[in-house]
Amino acid sequence: MITPPTRRAISIPSALFPPPVGPATTSTPRVCCAGDPIVDVGVGALIESAQYRHRMLLRSMKKLHLKDVAVTGKRALIRVDFNVPMEAGVISDDRRIRSSLASIRSVLERGGSAVLMTHLGRPEGKGFEAAYSVQPVAKRLAELLGNLAPRGVTCVGVSCIDHMAKDAALTLQPGGVVLLENLRFEKGEKKGDETFANTLASLGDFYVNDAFGTSHRSDASMHAVPLAMRAQGKLTSAGYLLDAELEFLLTRIARAERPFTAILGGAKVSDKLPTILNLMQKVDRIIVGGAMAYTLLRAKGIAIGASRVEEALVAQSKDLLARAAEQGCEILLPCDHLCTTAFSAESARKVCVGAIDDGWMGLDIGPATIVQFATAIRASRTVVWNGPMGVFEMPPFDAGTRAVAQATIDATKTGAITIVGGGDTAAAMEDFGLASQFSHVSTGGGASLEVLEGKHLVCLDAIDSATTVG
Ligand code: ATP
Repeated sequence: MITPPTRRAISIPSALFPPPVGPATTSTPRVCCAGDPIVDVGVGALIESAQYRHRMLLRSMKKLHLKDVAVTGKRALIRVDFNVPMEAGVISDDRRIRSSLASIRSVLERGGSAVLMTHLGRPEGKGFEAAYSVQPVAKRLAELLGNLAPRGVTCVGVSCIDHMAKDAALTLQPGGVVLLENLRFEKGEKKGDETFANTLASLGDFYVNDAFGTSHRSDASMHAVPLAMRAQGKLTSAGYLLDAELEFLLTRIARAERPFTAILGGAKVSDKLPTILNLMQKVDRIIVGGAMAYTLLRAKGIAIGASRVEEALVAQSKDLLARAAEQGCEILLPCDHLCTTAFSAESARKVCVGAIDDGWMGLDIGPATIVQFATAIRASRTVVWNGPMGVFEMPPFDAGTRAVAQATIDATKTGAITIVGGGDTAAAMEDFGLASQFSHVSTGGGASLEVLEGKHLVCLDAIDSATTVG
């Protein structure tokens, strides 16, 4: 029996911490005591609430898998995330399409047909916009499916629910594939509109969620559609992609072997404060690199020169460091930095050890930090990584990210479970040609972060549990 926390609800992230009390700047973090209002009302409530949400999440996570649904002669309504980057109408990266091939193949190979729905970009929600049409996606998908879809991928009409789209879906024969037009052409998608959802729900015999990257949103196709299908007596299931993401981000992390190391980096500490708070209860150490490290270093009273910092979060970062110390979670911060005088690869460069000189900014972790971080990572049995260590897009400031990637791969080779998440981090690993060498690379940036924060993904409630089909 799981009892909900009794403390008052708090919001994230603005209510993370109340305003600081006492002297604002000291070189070592202030230690919080039991009964300290900062801990009790702010961080403590957040942690308790996050723990509760995580327990609820684990409890509801065994979902009906697509492979256990009888599909022969049936139409699968599959929510995919084909929100691919486009340049002048051409798909520049088709990873998201390839990620859902396993689910589509599973349906077609077993004699079913597939009605696919996705969003693409951010149209206004006022009808068809050629720039956001999914036609190029349909073409690429047909190429990837090859002989498995001999009639290609049908994409007709100017709306996912106009009569052409409905006809195409409802007359679909086994082996056929329809890709509905961009869901976000209809304002009902973002609003979670019930009438819109009912119409979509009528286009399939059962529902598959294979859109992990959108799972932190409660758009109609993610939540209201599977609920409507359930109300119509139809099964709702998890596709291969969603299942794999949940397996790694929830199950494996819940059973993580120790030492368990989390690596966080990237640009904004504000995005990842709740993640640090949740992870510090589960992991042995948190490695922090990238620009977000500078806010934490400033909180420790260390000079950071002209490096990127979120001043408004310095006081909160101090509390966070104190909380980590109290919980016995080690926070490893960079001890040296590859610095430059301007945000450019051509400007003067030097390594700053400890403090960063005035007028210099850290754009990557330094060589001593690389050794320190890599040693800790290689000694770990579980590693979760979200966010690059530096400006990896601009060599030579990619060295820290590459070194951390290599150390994580080394850990994988010795049997550690290694999970990489975050849009930029996953893209960097693809670009470096390293993506296949981790245990799992998550396709969802925001969604994976929310799971690591301990947040509940509402759309999962609408998926049947594994016990639905006996
Ligand atoms: P997403 O948020 O898309 O899921 P992510 O979590 O992998 O991606 P972000 O938080 O978006 O990563 O941060 C990535 C950005 O951080 C990169 O563009 C990188 O250049 C930038 N960055 C990393 N280190 C620094 C630094 N020291 N100074 C300035 N920018 C940095």
